[in-house]
Amino acid sequence: MKGFHEFRAQMRARLDDEIGTIHRDASRRVALVYPSPYHVAMSSLGFQAIYRLMNGVEGWAAERAFLPDDVEAHRRAQLPLVTYEGERHVSGCDLIAFSVAYELELTGLFDCLSLAGLPLFAAERTAKQPLVVCGGPLTFSNPLPLGPFADVVAMGEAEELATSLLEAVDAEPDRQRLLALLATMPGFWVPSIHGESLPPVAKADDSLLPARSQIVTPNTELRSMFLIEPERGCSRGCTYCVMRRSTNGGMRKVSPDVVLDAIPAHVERVGLVGAAVTDHPKIAEIVRRLVDGGRHIGISSLRADRLTDELVGLLARGGYRTLTTASDGASERLRVTIERKTKEKHLVRAAELARAHGMKGLKLYEMVGLPTETDEDIDELVRFSTELSKVIPLALGVAPFVAKRNTPLDGAGYAGIREVEDKLERLRKGLRGKVDVRPTSARWAWVEYVLAQGGIEAGRRALIAHQAGGTFAAWKKAFAEDGSKRSQLRVVQ
Ligand code: SF4
Repeated sequence: MKGFHEFRAQMRARLDDEIGTIHRDASRRVALVYPSPYHVAMSSLGFQAIYRLMNGVEGWAAERAFLPDDVEAHRRAQLPLVTYEGERHVSGCDLIAFSVAYELELTGLFDCLSLAGLPLFAAERTAKQPLVVCGGPLTFSNPLPLGPFADVVAMGEAEELATSLLEAVDAEPDRQRLLALLATMPGFWVPSIHGESLPPVAKADDSLLPARSQIVTPNTELRSMFLIEPERGCSRGCTYCVMRRSTNGGMRKVSPDVVLDAIPAHVERVGLVGAAVTDHPKIAEIVRRLVDGGRHIGISSLRADRLTDELVGLLARGGYRTLTTASDGASERLRVTIERKTKEKHLVRAAELARAHGMKGLKLYEMVGLPTETDEDIDELVRFSTELSKVIPLALGVAPFVAKRNTPLDGAGYAGIREVEDKLERLRKGLRGKVDVRPTSARWAWVEYVLAQGGIEAGRRALIAHQAGGTFAAWKKAFAEDGSKRSQLRVVQ
């Protein structure tokens, strides 16, 4: 069994590999906690940006902590959750700020709080214990299941919220008065005061863009890559997407000079991150200048209808071996219904450009289980994928559709586990030997669905499921027993 010395050695080895770590003396400390392991967390641009920002607030220092790689080993060894920078107990900090990316990370939050030795329910913590604040991408859609556990939730873009939160904590030492104060400030949801009434998501001032990495490390999924956001938001209107134009007023662009100037000289690999990076009108210029400077490049969101010969050529020069894009709907008919503008001709062109520039393959993201989808739509995907695979080796990443709040498709039902599995089987059978089909789990997509559509009670049910072992059967049982209004969700057989 691993002991503290081994965990400390792992932490220190990771710190040694980092460039950009902030060690700061201050009278007050935030434990910035990511409810997934280090190698996932450090690929999160939002987490990195808030780390830099909080460390810039007068009188405060932010130190990071992560869900341990092996939670059970950590628990068995009775190790506390500690911060990396100062090896401080998370429970001894003035404030704990979680960055939560998506629904299933709720269980990581449970584990982090319990490893920190804190009561999970906000109502059971005392004013002597740190204030627990949640933020992150999940808050753009449905943070309600965080409600029983968070004292405060920062909704949406966090740049200004993070600063005003720390200033409010400085200004108001009394916990109840602090919560009352935060409840009056735009962008903060205080579950104990607001109940299920969520405030609108916050929008940061454009002068605070671009978000960018603070730390570069080889020990992440995006190895040694410096992340930067040349645009925020999206001007398109795909009806299933949380980041569509209605969320925060469309795409905000950053000029190429500002993007380039923000990248440190030592950086060799640059990831351009955003909801719709290739919609930036100057994307080719940004990529060209990076590649001409000898940098390797990654882009988080390649839209097939924005790919040109020049851009794909630059990506190939910048180290791309597989071109990854999404069509999301199985057929042209479905893509029209969800207002996804990608057409077959765009995907064929993407495949041809990838081949022409010597790439080894094309990866396409798809959803199955969209409303009104039939076997004919799946058959069209089989037929079209077969055609594409004759141009270049093709892999399909297939995820079941999960309706999100804050989107036009909010409230749409889950297609059903058996139904989704049947569709996946139809796809696999039709493409066997021709296309690499990589589906995500229909069962766990259902769990994501009950959390994406659930209310505060869904958070309590999630804890019951987690404490009952966290198996799919435990989740099904926990939600089957939930009689609350918001969980009039189809419990799938
Ligand atoms: S799916 Fe992509 S293109 Fe469509 S609205 Fe969302 S971010 Fe924009």
